[in-house]
Amino acid sequence: MRRVARQQPDLELAGRFEPDEQQTFRHVPFTVPEGVDQLHLHITYNDQIDSNPLHFGGNTLDVGLFDQRGTAAGGPGFRGWSGSNKLDLTIGRDWSTPPYRAGAPGRGEWNVLLGAYKVGPNGLEYRVEVRFNPGIPAPSQPQPNGRLVRAKVPPAAEPGWYRGDLHNHTIYSDGGSTPAALAVAAAEEGLDFYGITDHNRAQSPVGLVPEGDGWPVLVPGVEVTTYAGHFNVWGTDAWYDFREPTEAGIQRAMDAGLADGGFVSINHPKPFGPPWEFPQVTGFMGVEVWNGWWGRINNVSLAWWDERLRRGERPTPLAGSDMHRLGIVGDPDDPLTPARLGRPALWVHVPGELTAGTILDALRAGECFISESPSGPQLYVTRSGDMLRVHVADARGDALLLIGDPGCVAARPITGDDCTLAIALSELPADLTYVRAELHHPTGAIRALSNAIALNGSTHSR
Ligand SMILES: [Zn+2]
Repeated sequence: MRRVARQQPDLELAGRFEPDEQQTFRHVPFTVPEGVDQLHLHITYNDQIDSNPLHFGGNTLDVGLFDQRGTAAGGPGFRGWSGSNKLDLTIGRDWSTPPYRAGAPGRGEWNVLLGAYKVGPNGLEYRVEVRFNPGIPAPSQPQPNGRLVRAKVPPAAEPGWYRGDLHNHTIYSDGGSTPAALAVAAAEEGLDFYGITDHNRAQSPVGLVPEGDGWPVLVPGVEVTTYAGHFNVWGTDAWYDFREPTEAGIQRAMDAGLADGGFVSINHPKPFGPPWEFPQVTGFMGVEVWNGWWGRINNVSLAWWDERLRRGERPTPLAGSDMHRLGIVGDPDDPLTPARLGRPALWVHVPGELTAGTILDALRAGECFISESPSGPQLYVTRSGDMLRVHVADARGDALLLIGDPGCVAARPITGDDCTLAIALSELPADLTYVRAELHHPTGAIRALSNAIALNGSTHSR
């Protein structure tokens, strides 16, 4: 006979984090006996507040789960991590609460992973009730309409260029939509590709979305979400350890992503991003200089990238909406408005077939620019000998700014819908090591920005 979800718990795990244990992890072991097809965890704690980094004064508890195969970094025992997003988890042979992976629960020692993201003045008292074989039926899955409807957006002004949004969340972390619904929405926004970068996900999105036949291209990724900042790894199927927010721990996790051939980028290095706390960590290839609406403190991320450029490093500038909820129009002038898919858009140059691999190759080669939206201005910057060629589309009335080591080194008005400016490097200050372009609306907002062209102090030497 089936038992119901609110049967007496089979196990109760209780404990406490003190205020000085904020941002530490704890593995809480429990034993799963023979003959369990489904288990349910119900988690409660006191003084609960939202995970938003602008909220404080109470408790936020993050939750993850490892099965009997162990807790090793990158290992098969990781069943998922839901952050502070869910407090009722069902794990079973046939289905699991997203983002947890389904599959027969094995007998042996499991571990609930608890992360004390925020601990208020009263401390954090937690209680985990574990029920075996509660017989909870699978919830009905929301089905997207599945129809491919492409938005009309301005065509690329140069051949081989494609637009997308690589930083998005789904129900496989704290987002609101299925991966398939995200694919539909990406097409409706006129995107050629989209990323899925769920926080510390155990479930790969590959196979969960429509592909081919004109559908936007999925670039699978993971947002490695630690208490010392976030980084994205695209192009691998693994998970990377987020439980050691020290310089050594972060470096190990990033090295693992690099060893798997992933493209690694530092996310939103700005206040309340949350920020990136280990600038000494090395190996990343990109920096998310534009996350969500421009006005959300992205000037700090852009300055972070410029500082790297002045040091002679050349990380690729990336953009991502960090969209969690589809169907919200959003207001860029409201500081608390949610992110919207494709705002900003990342453009990449792929001369051949558009695949996840060729998109990441374009990022490795630095062949990209960023625009405020899928219909926003296009900004192509190339160097040919002593000349800088800047091709601008859909930016009439904006200002083109050239930025080099000391800051703004030149400016031009954009007077046409499609215009190409040739600027002699000899017109720019001597000894620039790089130059890059920005398009500014007359009110000051950035509408597009290019990658940096390396000059290596050769501005006047040719
Ligand atoms: Zn993030």
